[in-house]
Amino acid sequence: MPRGTDVASIKALDRAGLQALVAELGQPRFRAGQLERWLYGRAVRSFAEMSDLPGGLRDTLASRLALPYPEIVHRQESADGTRKYLLRLAGGATVETVGLPSGDRLTVCFSTQAGCAMGCAFCATGIGGLIRDLGPGEMVDQVSVVAGDFGRRVTNAVAMGQGEPFANYDAVIGALRFMNAPDALGIGARHITVSTCGLVTGIRRFAEEPEQFTLAVSLHSAVQNTRDRLMPGVRSVKLPELRKALAGYATATGRRPSLEYALIAGVNDTEAERSALVKFCRGLLVHVNLIPVNPVAETGFARSPAECIESFHRVLHAAGIEVSIRAERGTDIDAACGQLRQRSAAS
Ligand code: SAH
Ligand code: SF4
Repeated sequence: MPRGTDVASIKALDRAGLQALVAELGQPRFRAGQLERWLYGRAVRSFAEMSDLPGGLRDTLASRLALPYPEIVHRQESADGTRKYLLRLAGGATVETVGLPSGDRLTVCFSTQAGCAMGCAFCATGIGGLIRDLGPGEMVDQVSVVAGDFGRRVTNAVAMGQGEPFANYDAVIGALRFMNAPDALGIGARHITVSTCGLVTGIRRFAEEPEQFTLAVSLHSAVQNTRDRLMPGVRSVKLPELRKALAGYATATGRRPSLEYALIAGVNDTEAERSALVKFCRGLLVHVNLIPVNPVAETGFARSPAECIESFHRVLHAAGIEVSIRAERGTDIDAACGQLRQRSAAS
């Protein structure tokens, strides 16, 4: 059971949890699959709607378990079509979810925790600390809310909203499996990405999962002191250890993780930082994503000048490292992580 999640909520259960539940109720195993389809394929709001379950079972489930669904408390739409939602979950915690349409694709950026304990200096989510972990169903529901609002299928999902996914590992994997299941959301494993601040035990476990989920690691500096200052929650993980975990991931999976690097003026955009980044990436199977940092009022950080971002791109490319500059989306609606929740807390 995920820490801090309402134990009486069916949304706290992963697939094994649903199987244990039906076994405990003396039901055949296939009932767990039926529950999964109703909960995550159809996103029903009550047990009563689960028409292929026996009436007695529906009543028992309803008397034992809550079946909450997120409530949209705020919705913003950007000129580029990006939609950002503030969702209220059971118990009142709020999280942010973003829907990004792009041609045939619809990507959902979902949260894995309410708040985050890692305290990254540039991140709006880090400011308020951790409120609670989300259960698997609470992550899948964010995707369903966006699919419902856009009226179309979600093709990609990224755990890049609030929270550190590997600090809530089991619930996150449970959610990814529901998102991936053909009978639930049917999103291809390779189209499901988890972004971590670099918790190496999580990276190692993730490499062993049978599905081909995609990994992104937030690096933000390849200089230990700078990284420790920017990402205090992950200070105990040293860069050589992180590099080793990335190399191990590539060997075990044959897949290329991306490294996120948000460029902050005068902090991690100097020549020395650029050389350290090249050195870190050389010989690693990675794709570097350069991101102009989203300024968050409380942090006082500013984005690097465009010439500087381009010089990082040029130098990495020349060194034979795969690199791109992330296109900005939804900047007119505070699309940086945690910004909407912070603002709503302040108002
Ligand atoms: N906790 C995970 C996933 C959520 S944060 C992680 O840190 O990877 C998702 C991404 O947004 C991370 O790469 C994070 O570093 C980045 N991010 C957070 N605040 C940002 C900001 N103000 N500007 C640009 N990127 C930011
Ligand atoms: Fe947490 Fe990620 Fe924000 Fe860091 S960047 S505080 S790990 S959500």
